[in-house]
Amino acid sequence: MTAADAVAEDTGWLPLRAELAGIAPYGAPQLDVPVQLNVNENPYGPSEACVADIAEAVAEAARTLNRYPDREFVALRTALAAYLSRDVADGQAPIVPEQVWAANGSNEVMLQLLQAFGGPGRTAVSFAPTYSMYPEYARDSNTAWVAGRRREDFALDLDAARELIAEHRPSIVLLPSPNNPTGTALPPAAVDALCTAAAEHGNDGRGGLVVVDEAYGEFRRAGTPSAIELLPTHRNLVVSRTMSKAFAGAGLRLGYLAADPAVTDAIRVVRLPYHLSATTQATALAALRHTDELLGQVDALRGERDLLVDWLREQGHDVADSDANFVLFGRFADRHAVWRGLLDRGVLIRETGPDGWLRVSVGTPAEMAAFRDALTTVTTTVIQENQ
Ligand SMILES: *Cc1c(COP(=O)(O)O)cnc(C)c1O
Repeated sequence: MTAADAVAEDTGWLPLRAELAGIAPYGAPQLDVPVQLNVNENPYGPSEACVADIAEAVAEAARTLNRYPDREFVALRTALAAYLSRDVADGQAPIVPEQVWAANGSNEVMLQLLQAFGGPGRTAVSFAPTYSMYPEYARDSNTAWVAGRRREDFALDLDAARELIAEHRPSIVLLPSPNNPTGTALPPAAVDALCTAAAEHGNDGRGGLVVVDEAYGEFRRAGTPSAIELLPTHRNLVVSRTMSKAFAGAGLRLGYLAADPAVTDAIRVVRLPYHLSATTQATALAALRHTDELLGQVDALRGERDLLVDWLREQGHDVADSDANFVLFGRFADRHAVWRGLLDRGVLIRETGPDGWLRVSVGTPAEMAAFRDALTTVTTTVIQENQ
């Protein structure tokens, strides 16, 4: 345990909100082990040319650090709009800067969405297994949280989803696609149907928003379009992205969304003034100038992912189909023992998802070889699987 994880013993005197008492802060263990496959980072760092460009941009920003940064981050919104426009359908208008919003990671983007569109008397809906941060944004914004269930194969049951939306009339529906922790992408027809359902059954006679969280969008398999294509059809659709995963920028903290300009306008009311620092804006802009290089390993990672899925299936494991840069596999009677056994062999993966399952991020070929070796040892000598 690091100092930051330590929990003070006597907190009874604190005027803490009752729903926060005894709650551990969210976060995967940050352990210094040789093979880190637990938080879905891109294993490939930036090139020296990219590092030099970022350093120069940050130095330039430093010369005016006595001034507040551009509150509307227009240059960055323009660059992000150009990048997102790669995913519009043929004949569709490009994404414009007024449709784009950004914050310190898509976690902050999503919290801002809940602050603006959730709140007391309102409900956020998702379908489990889903991203474990969503209920925390709901809690922190005093929004009621309702989680429906996905099918056994982790696909959405559309009829059940529509019924849940009609019953709870959420002001916001959160749909990760590809889903974390299962890797499952949503077909556009499902997004389309849920946007229609949310528009019909929102809060106070107004339609609810549907947020498609495409944190892993760039890793989707060929033939799976981005929900960006549906933006012209549904004004209640929000598509969220991040530079943390495919873009190899987890340390940068830059998440963003595309939506109707009315949505980005409304978020401005709840954002903190100057929430994106001058150095963040400069770094993100410099990184976006190296888009093709930073995304250059995405194809290799998708290939490595598909090999991993095949290998795990050959070993007799249950494996969820994945459109992301991680794979959910199982099922183990004692998944903690498997996780621990891998860690003892220098391989850190994530103990998350439904009971009995584990999630492993896709790393370099050498890291995946280390994972395969360690898992083979652990499952053959340490653990008996329950299947
Ligand atoms: C990793 C992840 C994010 C991205 O978080 P950042 O704050 O942008 O680093 C968002 N949604 C899901 C489902 C994720 O797994």
